[in-house]
Amino acid sequence: MNFPTAFENRVKNDSFLGNDLLTALNENPPVSLRLNSLKQIDQKQLSDLQFDKQIAWCENAFYLKERPIFTLDPLFHAGCYYPQEAGSMVLDKILRSLTLPDQPIVLDLCAAPGGKSTLISSFLNEKGLLVSNEVIRNRAQILKENLTKWGATNVVVTNNDPKDFERLPHFFDVVVCDAPCSGEGMFRKDFNSRNEWSESNVELCAGRQKRIVSDVWESLKPNGFFIYSTCTFNEQENEKNVQFICEQLGADLIKIELQPTLKKGRNEYGNYCLPNLVNTEGFFIAVLQKYDDSKAKTKFENKKEFKQVEAKTMGISDFTKEQNIQFFQWNDLILAFPQSSSQEILHLIAKLHIVKAGTTIGDLTRKGVNPHHELALNQHLCHYTQRLELTREQALGYLHGDTFSLDGTHGFQLITFKQQPLGWIKHLGNRFNNLYPKEWRIRMKID
Ligand code: SAM
Repeated sequence: MNFPTAFENRVKNDSFLGNDLLTALNENPPVSLRLNSLKQIDQKQLSDLQFDKQIAWCENAFYLKERPIFTLDPLFHAGCYYPQEAGSMVLDKILRSLTLPDQPIVLDLCAAPGGKSTLISSFLNEKGLLVSNEVIRNRAQILKENLTKWGATNVVVTNNDPKDFERLPHFFDVVVCDAPCSGEGMFRKDFNSRNEWSESNVELCAGRQKRIVSDVWESLKPNGFFIYSTCTFNEQENEKNVQFICEQLGADLIKIELQPTLKKGRNEYGNYCLPNLVNTEGFFIAVLQKYDDSKAKTKFENKKEFKQVEAKTMGISDFTKEQNIQFFQWNDLILAFPQSSSQEILHLIAKLHIVKAGTTIGDLTRKGVNPHHELALNQHLCHYTQRLELTREQALGYLHGDTFSLDGTHGFQLITFKQQPLGWIKHLGNRFNNLYPKEWRIRMKID
């Protein structure tokens, strides 16, 4: 399929890009994924996937030889891995090269569907706090689903406009802004995206990106790191915006040593994964450090409706052990926050529109506590011993929302496949209630 003429001319006349990029954009994109280090999973357990080479700039990341139907793999639903474009995984290498506090507070501002957030979550490895935000409401729900499956405790999902983060002056150690862009990097996988490209859309995107960055800037701590990325190749949305941040908002550009195939940007502003140089769809990323203009310090606020409770008195000791975790009751829910960031989470709850905070352990009912789906997927917190291992066929049926005959004792059972938790059932003797969330069920026909 052809490119928009204006795009083709731009690339041909840009000595930084050139004809080779156009050729590469017409080739098949690679398939790649990252394993979830929070789930103790290895390649052997994922025997249905055909692994190829490891990705050099990201831990636990691989190319696949071919694209499987991920929906038909129960371990995909268990959050054991996340299919992600290889170029965007360079964020891992960048995060690992920064000097950060022991418990960093990280904002992923434009986060849905959750590729970068799951990567940041693995990088943090339950230290500090990840605030994962998405402005579009239904996309925030997809983000919540993907982060619930990823299964970390130190995550808050919010649904806010970047401007709302002005309520949190000097709060974050790192802000990641994977900005909405004209998507030239999508041309390889999604031919329709070529029809949406225009010169005026590039201008519009560049203006919107400046606005987003300016709106969130106050929430970054002095000396904090700002990571700006897009999946596009033009100078307006990339290097020019990085220059804008340095000069207008006040930041130094940080140079990170990456593989030579990850080409330095124009005037050495940031780095590119160009599909003609490295097997990716295309990605731009730059790291900046905010000038030290210290003044405001966050005064923490708290919502009174959140009451700290003990696991024993709430009757949840069978489900979870209390290490470095604080439990809070909010209406009929029991939530778990990491002790080290519970103050910050309560402050976020007071200031933003929250979609998910920490891990929900259970629902309080008149008859006792029902374990929550979020707990099933959090291996760090879930210590429930009554488990039922399913075959692949049964696991797909369970994820489809079916019920079938299954041996087991009365009460709540944690359903697993290859020892990886998928969710809950309530066993009633000769039948069971399938408690897998309705909105996440597999909808395609399973043979
Ligand atoms: N970081 C995501 C990942 O790795 O999976 C991809 C993010 S995508 C490039 C950009 C996101 O920005 C989209 O989810 C989009 O809904 C969101 N967005 C669109 N307009 C926005 C705006 N005005 N402010 C903030 N985010 C916006």
